[in-house]
Amino acid sequence: MMGSALHLNDKEAQFPPSWYAATATIPPERPRLKGRIKADVCIIGAGYTGLHAALTLRERGLSVVVLEAHRAGWGASGRNGGQVGSGYNKGPMWLERHVGKTEARLLWDLCEDSKALVRESVERFAPDALYKPGVAHGVQSPREFEHLKRETEHLSRHYGYSQTELFAGDDFRNLVKTRLYKGGTLDHGAGHIHPLRYALGLASAAASAGAQIFERSEVHHIEQGKTLRIQTALGHVEADHLILAGNGYLPQIEKHYAARVMTVNSFIGATAPLGDTAKEVLSRDVAVYDDSNVVNYFRLSEDGRLLFGGRANYSVKFPKDMGTKLHRRMATMFPQIADIPFDYVWGGTLGVTYTRLPAVLRVAPNIVAAGGYSGQGVALAGLAGKVMAEAVAGQAQRFDTLALLPTVPLPRGQMTRAALLTLAMSWATLRDKIGL
Ligand SMILES: Cc1cc2nc3c(=O)[nH]c(=O)nc-3n(C[C@H](O)[C@H](O)[C@H](O)COP(=O)(O)OP(=O)(O)OC[C@H]3O[C@@H](n4cnc5c(N)ncnc54)[C@H](O)[C@@H]3O)c2cc1C
Repeated sequence: MMGSALHLNDKEAQFPPSWYAATATIPPERPRLKGRIKADVCIIGAGYTGLHAALTLRERGLSVVVLEAHRAGWGASGRNGGQVGSGYNKGPMWLERHVGKTEARLLWDLCEDSKALVRESVERFAPDALYKPGVAHGVQSPREFEHLKRETEHLSRHYGYSQTELFAGDDFRNLVKTRLYKGGTLDHGAGHIHPLRYALGLASAAASAGAQIFERSEVHHIEQGKTLRIQTALGHVEADHLILAGNGYLPQIEKHYAARVMTVNSFIGATAPLGDTAKEVLSRDVAVYDDSNVVNYFRLSEDGRLLFGGRANYSVKFPKDMGTKLHRRMATMFPQIADIPFDYVWGGTLGVTYTRLPAVLRVAPNIVAAGGYSGQGVALAGLAGKVMAEAVAGQAQRFDTLALLPTVPLPRGQMTRAALLTLAMSWATLRDKIGL
């Protein structure tokens, strides 16, 4: 579908010119789907969601076809900030108020499962993705710090999660060397990885386990019924079940999913290697994100570059110049590296929901969908893929728990949605702070 995020910003079946693509071994292209093929389950999208779904279905002996418009790992899964975060965008206290205490606990446990899934999968399928522990969260006001402190204590007291260290003022600035933050946390139970190597490892493992992955095979139409017919330009799949795993790139294809998930772009720049100066930016090899409305996220690469992400735009198309404003933002935070240029700049598209919680839906008796992880998909997407596969295989318990996360339908039209989302984000931040 021309005009969609699938085609507007990238060349067909080519990975963007990211530092990740430059440091991964890209396998030869897989075939396109041609003619008719039958399978128990068809999956649209070969990112973390689709590939984890495929792996789980193969473990359970079901036949699987994965249809990918470009290349496995081409979407957000191959371009992101690599942060494997804890929890959801809404803290446990918010979830307790909105879904109940027992359910909030079950949802927290699923998040813990999602991080464990990444660690285990990296070890088994993609050791070169180099999982490293430690994600810091910087905040810009004493009030935010108090909020962070309350959440950290709540998690420790009521959820038994004591892996988060609190750092006030200068202690945090010794870790993350910017004047922007008034304090923060370091979560030793979260971590960071090379996202593209992880996605490529998953794809290779899924294919070895017997999943048939077709690339350059965009799905244009889904014909619903007891047997589903999933149509690409040159062929079609007949399947008993369908898993929608296209996240931010999918919206146009299924209306229930499209109503809840909107498309947002985010951008990352990789500086030239910093050498000894790296220690003047981050004193430890941890990833960082913050409480800005448009979040700043950064970490060091294995060759000592600062990978700095932060700008967002809500139009489907990337701006012509992705790097200048992003670099300015980095330079304001870290004047000590202001004169070091970006060697690489790239963008990617992700799915976001109004509540910034994943949308996990049953859109028909034999179609499930998950997406809209709102910047937390490195861990949550894999788990969502796995629980969708479990539901298809007849065990829907974990799927039903994830489906408790509240999301709401959005009005049509990218610009109206963008305005609403911006408003929702400021309002949500305010409400979180004042405890509504
Ligand atoms: C710049 C950036 C930074 C981010 N940083 C972080 C981070 O640090 N931590 C974090 O947790 N999350 C982060 N995210 C979000 C995270 O990357 C995603 O949530 C996650 O990768 C989603 O995985 P996925 O498999 O659902 O989607 P994707 O990886 O986007 O995969 C979807 C695939 O579906 C395919 N597809 C879509 N429609 C069709 C169709 N009609 N036919 C065939 N194929 C189709 C696409 O080509 C794509 O390859 C970031 C995202 C971006 C863009």
